[in-house]
Amino acid sequence: MSNPSLLILPGDGIGKEVMAEVRRIIEWFGDKRSLTFDVSEDLVGGAAYDVHGTPLHDDTMAKAQEVDAVLLGAVGGPDYDNLDFSVKPERGLLRLRKEMDLFANLRPAQCFDALADFSSLKRDIVSGLDIMIVRELTSGSYFGEPRGIFEEDGQRVGINTQRYTEAEIDRVARSAFELARRRNNRVVSMEKANVMESGILWREVMEKVHQEYQDVELSHMYADNGAMQLVRAPKQFDVIVTDNLFGDILSDCAAMLTGSLGMLPSASLGAPMENGRPKAMYEPVHGSAPDIAGQGKANPSACILSFAMALRYSFDAGEEATRLETAVEKVLADGVRTADLMQTEEAQPVSTSQMGDAILAALDASL
Ligand code: NAD
Repeated sequence: MSNPSLLILPGDGIGKEVMAEVRRIIEWFGDKRSLTFDVSEDLVGGAAYDVHGTPLHDDTMAKAQEVDAVLLGAVGGPDYDNLDFSVKPERGLLRLRKEMDLFANLRPAQCFDALADFSSLKRDIVSGLDIMIVRELTSGSYFGEPRGIFEEDGQRVGINTQRYTEAEIDRVARSAFELARRRNNRVVSMEKANVMESGILWREVMEKVHQEYQDVELSHMYADNGAMQLVRAPKQFDVIVTDNLFGDILSDCAAMLTGSLGMLPSASLGAPMENGRPKAMYEPVHGSAPDIAGQGKANPSACILSFAMALRYSFDAGEEATRLETAVEKVLADGVRTADLMQTEEAQPVSTSQMGDAILAALDASL
């Protein structure tokens, strides 16, 4: 059988630096765990624009459609801020998400004990936190028609439309229930069924799909209450499923419960391919961080943890994913810190590659 394939798109700024560490981790799994990938690498974002005049070349898009998973670093930067909207680096990312039809965005919010004091909430509220937000990513208010700024009765009106079909809700519901089965079997669905028809339909379809997942507990919560509960008592949740707009906000809110942007991975999943694996792209939540790019200061953990998600959700290697996550956790527990994880200036932060070294050493120690 051929090796699973992985397309690496480092992108811009610190994307390239953190991805270099991920490549070392990937090699480690090949050498030490006989988990070998066919890795190819290509350009996205500003890096692709510099060479091809477009943030995503058609050939790269075609490759992304063929591989088992895509791993992306980050795109963007000040050099590209004044480009036309159609060729901005972010358009490359959006094209990948759209053409791969990645409808389920998985954003874990996990609080490593060693970092609990980084949260804006009290330690006992976040310590041990482990929740997963599933955000619908390809429909809803960001895509619904009509949209635009129109002239009406002598003034301008800005319009966006919240629109969901049953099929769109059905498929993201299934993703959430399947995920819950791998976790603690609980799903909370969030919408605003009290004031929005799309919310009523969302709730109805969730209930209908739930008939096939009776082993999973389903409850519903209005999204505004959900926001309050996330900061009041976030540990009550296991899997949260919600639409594109609410998910955008709630997942950022949940992310900040855990402290640093440098620690947050994500996955975007689509429909199963012929080999049963979902179409998938994994990427850290952070951007290209132009303020620290090229200085060896970036924390590679978010990108490394994104690769751990790939191991779990694309490559059926849940145990190896846990091994990698545990290695990151151990390094943090040992007090190894990149600059973003330091609250005082007393200690010396490690560089991006030293953080990679420490994680590799923890992986070695796990054998
Ligand atoms: P950013 O996430 O790049 O940076 C925000 C802050 O967090 C910065 O101070 C940065 O130094 C710090 N930071 C981020 N990741 C870090 C890491 N791994 N280690 C240490 N510190 C880290 O967000 P921004 O500054 O708003 O955006 C910069 C560029 O990135 C923009 O061009 C933006 O459009 C783009 N962006 C891209 C993505 C993506 O590729 N998915 C996401 C967000 C922003």
